[in-house]
Parts: sequence; C-alpha cells; structure tokens
Amino acid sequence: MCANATFEKEMLQVVKRITKEQIAPRAAEVDRTDEFPHDLVRVLGENGLLTMSLPEEYGGIQANSALLSRVIEEVSSGLTMMGTTMLSTHTVIRMVSMMGNDAQKETFYKNLTSGHKLCAICLTEPHAGSDARALSTAAKKNPGGGYTLNGTKIFVTLAQVAEYYLAFAKTGQDEISAFFSSQRQPRAPLWEN
Ligand SMILES: Cc1cc2nc3c(=O)[nH]c(=O)nc-3n(C[C@H](O)[C@H](O)[C@H](O)COP(=O)(O)OP(=O)(O)OC[C@H]3O[C@@H](n4cnc5c(N)ncnc54)[C@H](O)[C@@H]3O)c2cc1C
Repeated sequence: MCANATFEKEMLQVVKRITKEQIAPRAAEVDRTDEFPHDLVRVLGENGLLTMSLPEEYGGIQANSALLSRVIEEVSSGLTMMGTTMLSTHTVIRMVSMMGNDAQKETFYKNLTSGHKLCAICLTEPHAGSDARALSTAAKKNPGGGYTLNGTKIFVTLAQVAEYYLAFAKTGQDEISAFFSSQRQPRAPLWEN
C-alpha cells in the first residue's frame, strides 16, 4: 500500500471514530430541537476537517475530491447536516483556489486557519436553479471601492452561521463574477425570516 493510501485509510478510521463517538450521538437531539450544533463545528475544526482542502502551508492537506467525498460521506452517516456543512465550506475553498488571485487566496486561507470558520455559496435564485446562467443579481461598482450586489438568493446552506459568503452576480450582459463577503462587512441581510 502506498504512503498516500495508508494515510487516507488511517484518516478515514479517525473520522469514523469521531463520527461514532461525537457526531452521531447528537443527531436525534439536533433533529428534535432544529438548533445548529456549533459545538460539532468545533469538533470538525479541531480535527482538521474544515481545512483539509487548504494547501499544506496553511494547515491543510490539499485533499482531493475523492478523499473529501469519503470523509463527507462518513460524517454524513452520523449527522447529514455536518456533512453538508463540510461540503459548503470546502466548495468555497476550492472555488477560491480555482478562481482567486494570489493575494485573495493568501488572505482567505490565512483567515481560515484561525478559528473554525464556515463558508456559504450564494448562487441559486428564485428563478435560477439548474440554469445558473439565468441569475439576475447584479453587481455595481462603488465609486469608493468594492461592489454593491442587488438581488435575491435562496437555498443558501449555512446562511445564518457562515463567516464567509461567495456570491455570484452579473457584471455584464453575459458575464457572471464571484464576490466574496465576510460576516464582519456591513451587508444586506441574505435571508428574511
Ligand atoms: C439541501 C439543499 C441545499 C442547497 N444549498 C445550496 C447552497 O448552499 N447554495 C446555493 O446557491 N444553492 C443551494 N441549493 C440549491 C440547488 O443548487 C438548486 O436547488 C439546484 O440548482 C436546482 O435548482 P431548482 O431547485 O431551481 O430546480 P430546477 O432548476 O427548477 O430543476 C427542477 C427539475 O428540472 C430538471 N431540469 C432542469 N433543467 C433541465 C433541463 N434543461 N433538462 C431536463 N431537466 C431539467 C432538474 O433536474 C430538476 O429535476 C440547495 C438545494 C438543496 C435542496
């Protein structure tokens, strides 16, 4: 067995144990109370499961899709929403890895290494689901810097608990761009109760 395969096997055994001992026992209570289990986010974070797709120099292991999928599958077997929490966060990390410039990546990665931060994707709209190109949220450049996004997003996993949001908006007739926003920045509410 090669070193990578051994590492992955050992990692999955650890994830299996965490799921069995710490995550699964909470499932019935979370279902009953419908409250977000912030303590389990800490469990994921302390075991490196929220940062495993980051490069090694930022504390990750640059996990590929296959390993991420297996870990998320395992965690989901204990409590589905914790798997979804990982999925949303790692999707944003991987999108920034693919689309971000070096400065954006460095700032974002550094921020993720401190604390157990969650990320949300804001793509779907009331009239744009599978056909994501039909989205109508528009981004307008502010004279003083930055952009203002106008539109409505729906189905945003982790909307109320994420630290970072990656939102997609039109920047031209046939152009869609991704915008990054942090909870600490003033912004319009992303949801309405
Ligand atoms: C649990 C959950 C979590 C989600 N989390 C997020 C999130 O974090 N961020 C986010 O942005 N969105 C999120 N979504 C939204 C999700 O991405 C959309 O639901 C998805 O893109 C489908 O869009 P829709 O629901 O509008 O369905 P539609 O696009 O209206 O599709 C309805 C049905 O029509 C079919 N269909 C669509 N187009 C075609 C076609 N051309 N040919 C044949 N069949 C077609 C589809 O397969 C589907 O069966 C989430 C959804 C769920 C259920």
